[in-house]
Amino acid sequence: MYLKKIEVKGFKSFADRIELELDKGITGVVGPNGSGKSNISDAVRWVLGEQSAKSLRGGKMEDVIFAGTDIRKPLGYAEVAITIDNQDSMLPIDYSEVIIARRMYRSGESEYSINKVNCRLKDITELFMDTGVGREGYSIVGQGRIDEILSAKPEDRREIFEEAAGIVKYKTRKQESEKKLDATEQNIVRLDDIINELN
Ligand code: ATP
Repeated sequence: MYLKKIEVKGFKSFADRIELELDKGITGVVGPNGSGKSNISDAVRWVLGEQSAKSLRGGKMEDVIFAGTDIRKPLGYAEVAITIDNQDSMLPIDYSEVIIARRMYRSGESEYSINKVNCRLKDITELFMDTGVGREGYSIVGQGRIDEILSAKPEDRREIFEEAAGIVKYKTRKQESEKKLDATEQNIVRLDDIINELN
């Protein structure tokens, strides 16, 4: 699996649609300070479902939408799509190429899609679970992240190893099942109460 293409429109400094084709191996992005290098990695994190404006270096999520310049009006929405080569089937989906897209309007609502079919954020999160690529993954190491990992509490550091070991999806499913069991137990208690009242 590798990142093949990044398409960006209206995201941060990229008002016009840009398309970056990436090859296997190492790609370097170079440019003057403030030219938008980090905005590219922000775009990748954002399309994978990042919900924290702070970790995208903004104050509020709307800040990811092109804010305009002296000669150009602000835009109404931001859009990012990434194409992933999945010939090795690392992503559990029956396609050799997977396109993940997100569009967000100033109202704050986001639309997500996988291979041009609208989906929920949960579907994207589940698709990337245990691959190291998701928004909580370790494949994007931002500035200061190494220090953060080294000084993190052991329980927090453990999450990175759990993702690498591929057990996050089982933990998540266990938590979901426990929630359902809790809800069912509460329903049983309520039913018992009703039965007692009727007796
Ligand atoms: P450095 O080398 O200093 O780390 P960089 O190349 O990584 O810089 P970025 O931090 O990616 O640059 O980009 C910063 C630029 O993006 C700034 O000029 C900022 O004004 C612009 N920018 C950020 N958000 C928006 C937005 N919503 N609309 C327009 N421009 C934006």
